[in-house]
Amino acid sequence: TNPVHIIGGGLAGSEAAWQLASAGIPVVIHEMRGAPDGVGATEAHKTDGLAELVCSNSFRSDDPDNNAVGLIHQEMRALSSIIMAEADKARVPAGSALAVDRDQFSDGVTGRLANHPNVTIVRELVHGLPPADWGQTIVATGPLTAAPLAEAIRSLTGEDSLAFFDAIAPVIHFDSINLDVAWFQSRWDKGGQKDYLNCPMDKAQYEAFIDALLSAEKTSFKEWEANTPYFDGCMPIEVMATRGRDTPRFGPMKPVGLTNPATGRRAWAVVQLRQDNALGTLWNMVGFQTKMKHAEQVRVFRTIPGLENAQFARLGGLHRNTFINAPRLLDATLRLKAMPSLRFAGQITGCEGYVESAAVGLMAARFVIAERQGRSPVPPPPTTALGALLSHITGGAVADTFQPMNVNFGLFPPLAQTVKKDQRKPALVARARADLAEWMQAV
Ligand code: FAD
Repeated sequence: TNPVHIIGGGLAGSEAAWQLASAGIPVVIHEMRGAPDGVGATEAHKTDGLAELVCSNSFRSDDPDNNAVGLIHQEMRALSSIIMAEADKARVPAGSALAVDRDQFSDGVTGRLANHPNVTIVRELVHGLPPADWGQTIVATGPLTAAPLAEAIRSLTGEDSLAFFDAIAPVIHFDSINLDVAWFQSRWDKGGQKDYLNCPMDKAQYEAFIDALLSAEKTSFKEWEANTPYFDGCMPIEVMATRGRDTPRFGPMKPVGLTNPATGRRAWAVVQLRQDNALGTLWNMVGFQTKMKHAEQVRVFRTIPGLENAQFARLGGLHRNTFINAPRLLDATLRLKAMPSLRFAGQITGCEGYVESAAVGLMAARFVIAERQGRSPVPPPPTTALGALLSHITGGAVADTFQPMNVNFGLFPPLAQTVKKDQRKPALVARARADLAEWMQAV
C-alpha cells in the first residue's frame, strides 16, 4: 500500500501518524526540524523532538464534567490518542489541569512513532505543494509553517485565504450578555435587524473606559513578532486609544446610525458585537483585538454597559500565526476543496492550542483511514467536543471574520430542551458522551 504523507511532526502530525499507523496504514512524516542541512528551525521550537510544546507545558483543564477542553481530552483518550496517552504518562501536579514534563512528553511521542513499523520519519523541509505521486497527504505544519510552503498554499487558495497573523477580538457567550442594556440594531438600519448588538456608553463611561484601556497591563510581543505591522483593521484597541482619546469613538466605537431604545437617543460611544458562529451562541467584539493581559481584558471589558457579567469564550490576542480560511476552503472532512488529495490538520486549520491541534490531527487521520477501508468518512456529531470544534472550523464559523478558536461549550448546538442554567453543562456533557458512544459504534 502507498503510504500517507504527513507534512509536519508537531502535535497534529504526530497524532495523525499514530492513528494511521495503528490502523495498519504506512505513513511518512516529513519534519523539517533536525534536517541535516539545518534549514528547519522555527522561531519558537527549541528541539528536534516530535510534538514539542513551544510554550506552556499545560493541556489546560482535565475536568471532563465542567470544561470543554477536559471533555475533548476524554474523547481523545477514548479514541486511543497518542498525545493524551503520553501526556498522561508525563503528567506533573497541576490541580485539575493536565500539565506535563515537556521533554518526557515529546520523547515519549517521538520514541513510540520512531519505533512503529508503519512509521517513517524523514527530516526535510517540504518546499511546496506535494508532488502528485504522494497521493493522500495531510498538511500539519502549524502556526509557523515554513515560508515556501505557506506561499505555495497561498497561491493555490488565493491571497485572502491564508493569514500570517491572527488578530483576535474577544468572543462572548450570547447568554451572558445583558439584553436589558444591549440592543439589536445595524448601523443606519442597513443589513439584518439582528446582525449587531450594541452596548452604549455615556461620556463619563467612555472617558473612564479609555483610562482603563491606557493603564491596563499589556503582553509584549515576542522578539520575532516585534515588527508586526498593524494591518488595516487589526490595530489593537488600546494602541488606537494612544493615538488620541477620541480615536476609538471615531473608529470601531462610533455611535452614529444607532439609536438606544432605552433613551431614544444616540449614545456617546458604542461597543458593537457581531455574531461569530452560525448557531448564534458566540458574539465577537467588533474592532476589539487587543494585547491586554487576559485578566485585564476581563476586568476592563466587564465595565462596558451590558457586558457586566460577560463570559468570554475566548480572549483577544495578536500573534504570528499561519492559518487558512478553513470555513471557506475545507470540506466537512478537512479536505481542501481545490485539491482533495490534501487534508489539513492542526493549528493551520484555525483551531487554537495543543489539544485542539492534536484533536484535528486525530480526526483528519480517521477520515483517511475510512477512505482507505472503502467507507465514507463520517465526522463526529457536532454535539461532541470533537465534532463541535470540527464543525466550527469547517463551516460553522463566519468565514469573513474567521479567527482561530479554542474548543468551548459555545461551539455546541444548544440543547433541544430548556434546562436551568446550572444544569446546562451537565446536560451538554451527557449528550456529548451518548453521541460519541453512538458514533464510535457506527464507525
Ligand atoms: P506544530 O506543533 O507547530 O507542528 C508543526 C510542525 O511542522 C513543526 O514541527 C514544524 O517544524 C513543521 N513544519 C512546518 N513547516 C514545515 C515544512 N514546510 N516542511 C516540514 N516540516 C514543517 N498552544 C497552547 O496550547 N499553549 C501555549 O502555551 C501555546 N503557546 C504558543 C506560543 C507560540 C510562540 C506559538 C507560535 C504557538 C503557541 N501555541 C500554544 C500554539 C501551538 O503552537 C499550537 O497549539 C500547536 O503546537 C499546534 O500544533 P500543530 O501540530 O498544528 O503545529
